[in-house]
Amino acid sequence: MCTVVVVADPSGGYWMAGNRDEARWRSAAKPPHVFEHGAIYPVDPDGGGTWTAANQWGLCFSLLNNYQAPTGLARDVVSRGHIITRLVEHNSIASAAQSIDQWTLTQFEPFVLLIAEPLALKGVRTYRLTWDATTRKIDYNEGSLMQTSAAMASEQAHRWRNQKWRESPLSGTREHFDGDINIDTSLDEFFGAHHPQRSLISVCKHGLIASTVSHTRIRVSADQVSVHYQASAPCKQVEAVQLALARQPS
Ligand SMILES: [Zn+2]
Repeated sequence: MCTVVVVADPSGGYWMAGNRDEARWRSAAKPPHVFEHGAIYPVDPDGGGTWTAANQWGLCFSLLNNYQAPTGLARDVVSRGHIITRLVEHNSIASAAQSIDQWTLTQFEPFVLLIAEPLALKGVRTYRLTWDATTRKIDYNEGSLMQTSAAMASEQAHRWRNQKWRESPLSGTREHFDGDINIDTSLDEFFGAHHPQRSLISVCKHGLIASTVSHTRIRVSADQVSVHYQASAPCKQVEAVQLALARQPS
């Protein structure tokens, strides 16, 4: 995943959405599937894992590469794609975080992991683990957030994508939401953005080596977890896969 947002929904629950940017030679992913243990996620056939998932407890997961950190230091390397599949059965951030605390992270190349869960009354909390090959940093966020990563032209990509995010009504505080914002439309606008131009630095990425290859949008409401998956850049019109699970009380 290369650009991810988490947005609290004023009507309850929250959304996690993301564009996956990949190199042209990487195999096409298998579209999302409902797995037996109450989770929905697509599968990357190259690594056998995934970059995003949702589960029946209303938790959502996203994994980004941490390109700012050095690579090649990991030992007995395990694909980062397996991080989420190892965590997807947890029913709370607390439980998942406790598990990760026991892991030896030196087997993974640098990454940023996001885990979001609905707050009891309203809103969303996100756990973020940043692994830079030597140290782990954990922080928590309540409300909306955006995380992006880019292997090339990283500084420019961060600058323009952050600017686009700040301009989006989705990045605002709760008060901004009390107007009538259509979250779906605002997510379309943000993830399909070719700002400042259709290129390797825009949110909807179009590069010579790597481009946005899919878009995933997860909605967690009081009683349901639904996943919308489009196997193309968001700026293209292709049929999406839609799946849903009944949400279980955690
Ligand atoms: Zn595009």
